[in-house]
Amino acid sequence: MWGIIGTWAMAEEGIKKAGHFLSNHGSAMDACEVCVREVEKNPAFTSVGYGGLPNEKGRVSLDAAAMDGNTLQIGSVMGVEDFKHPSAIAKDLLNYRFNNVLVGKGAKIHGLKMNLKEENLLTEASKEAWLNHVHAVEQGLSPYDGHDTVCTVAVDVNQAMAAMTSTSGLFFKAEGRVGDAPLPGSGFYVDSEIGGAAATGLGEDIMKGILSYEIVRLMSDGLNPQDACERAVTNLHEKLTRKNKKAGDLSVIAMNHKVEFGAATNIDTFPFVVATDQHLMRGKAHFRASKHSQEIVCTKLL
Ligand code: ASP
Repeated sequence: MWGIIGTWAMAEEGIKKAGHFLSNHGSAMDACEVCVREVEKNPAFTSVGYGGLPNEKGRVSLDAAAMDGNTLQIGSVMGVEDFKHPSAIAKDLLNYRFNNVLVGKGAKIHGLKMNLKEENLLTEASKEAWLNHVHAVEQGLSPYDGHDTVCTVAVDVNQAMAAMTSTSGLFFKAEGRVGDAPLPGSGFYVDSEIGGAAATGLGEDIMKGILSYEIVRLMSDGLNPQDACERAVTNLHEKLTRKNKKAGDLSVIAMNHKVEFGAATNIDTFPFVVATDQHLMRGKAHFRASKHSQEIVCTKLL
């Protein structure tokens, strides 16, 4: 048995490739990387890697993380510039006993030690979007629209699990701002004995519920991934609404060690993609605000 789940439609090509890799007995961690790299290198996806939308200073600043579900080892980088694959640095950091989480300059130095190629990540299209945004913000538009993280959780044929995230974070974020994607427990968590989860949406709110860890905790209490996702998102959404009168976007995916999967959201539609030894599927989680319920629609591609 094997499986991999990824966030947003942008993960589809990567999930297909990672599924093929897993079917050839590739490891869960490498499969996550196969998927994430596919998204990072594609400038059409403007919230991850090359072509990611920049911060308020016009600089592309990336966050990424990797977690090994067998060892609970974590690698994480925050505010990385000039490398299109921050996930490669995060994954490499899994190999060390210390210094697993690096920010800015330290992450850059580590990438250079790995001989990663430095390159300008700001494409003409992203620069233009940024210039338009500067203008729109001057006109009073909320500065923080438009974001998405590629998140993956995988199980391989040896029942090892892994998770990975990569993002340019909120468009127009403040210099030095870090979202949930590189934060263990908030943006991702995985334990091969239970399962894994990952989150995308407004990092500032995802952190308030340590949302990914909460889903894994609920699965360890016996909930299946779908129920765990729904319960965690609903609880956090309701708590934030009660305490702060609003909740930011919260969308999650999960997979357990039996390759059962789930997804939930508090936005209208949250697309995700799943490949297992049985199926390749596009899924959509819909939040039915009036009923406070989730509807999951899956379309089989194979
Ligand atoms: N969670 C990311 C962040 O806050 C953005 C996203 O996934 O939409 O940086």
